[in-house]
Amino acid sequence: MPNVSADLGGPHVWVKRDDCTGLGMGGNKARQLEFYFGDALAQGADTVLITGAVQSNYVRATAAAAAKLGMGCEIQLEERVAGMDETYRRSGNVLLDQLFGARLHSYPDGDDEGGADAELEVIAERLRGEGRSPYVIHLSEGHRPLGALGYVEAAGEILEQAAVLDVGFDAIVVPSGSGATHAGLLVGLRAAGSKVPVHGVCVRREAKRQAGRILRTVRALERELDAGELVSEADVVVHDDWLAPGYGHPSESTLEAIRVAARREGLLLDPVYSGKAFAGLLGLVRRGALGSHESILFVHTGGTPALFGYATLLADI
Ligand SMILES: *Cc1c(COP(=O)(O)O)cnc(C)c1O
Repeated sequence: MPNVSADLGGPHVWVKRDDCTGLGMGGNKARQLEFYFGDALAQGADTVLITGAVQSNYVRATAAAAAKLGMGCEIQLEERVAGMDETYRRSGNVLLDQLFGARLHSYPDGDDEGGADAELEVIAERLRGEGRSPYVIHLSEGHRPLGALGYVEAAGEILEQAAVLDVGFDAIVVPSGSGATHAGLLVGLRAAGSKVPVHGVCVRREAKRQAGRILRTVRALERELDAGELVSEADVVVHDDWLAPGYGHPSESTLEAIRVAARREGLLLDPVYSGKAFAGLLGLVRRGALGSHESILFVHTGGTPALFGYATLLADI
């Protein structure tokens, strides 16, 4: 990102284009779903169930993967973001969910991961009664961290590409939501012997709770991989200064980040995840937490279809 690097006065900012993973408008969920769909197919499932916010990229990518594999897809959309309009409910990811042929359900609470998953089980039970074989992708903790395995692999890809480019990254910046991306990268990097710090920018919950969640996912991954302790507690770095006013609500710093990426690099960010993470990168450089001589990798996790769901809010950007 040469223009942004020059504007910031020194650091070399790179971007890993995981918005270009290629499945149904891309994003980090393509890597995560590879492992869920592998498990679903191994179990002989014919329908996949998932829950998320109305403008969830995860459910949209799941609908795309199910379509490609000839499977059914049942999506539950949670009321997680208050005060949104008709465009939010119809355009962007929702439009794509419908285009991919998924069946939509709604759930009244957006902060009840266990309850949302339990409701998916109710739908799954109904499908079993109809002779189908459902597979549930859980949102709540306590299940195998299959999605994070996609980012253990991605860490290896990043290190390979860095070697080809002959760049040694001093820091990696990534949005930290469910934590699958953040925890997977940490485990994958440390397993490969890299000590590069990973800065998770909170998009869902405040730093203390998020750090706990990342560490639990890291430990679950280490067990899944039958590895010893690869990541220390001090390795879990999260920042929540760019979270307000809360999940799915962009702040002025989010909008600034979206503007900067678009107008200086022709790069599209989104108002829920990548915009907040990039605001975090800009903020960490400006306050000197990331040095002006450093090479910084921004992991672009996608989310651009949400731009259209947020069209009303972004009208005057
Ligand atoms: C889901 C999502 C994230 C958060 O990733 P987690 O693995 O859930 O932490 C970040 N960016 C985008 C665009 C997403 O859709």
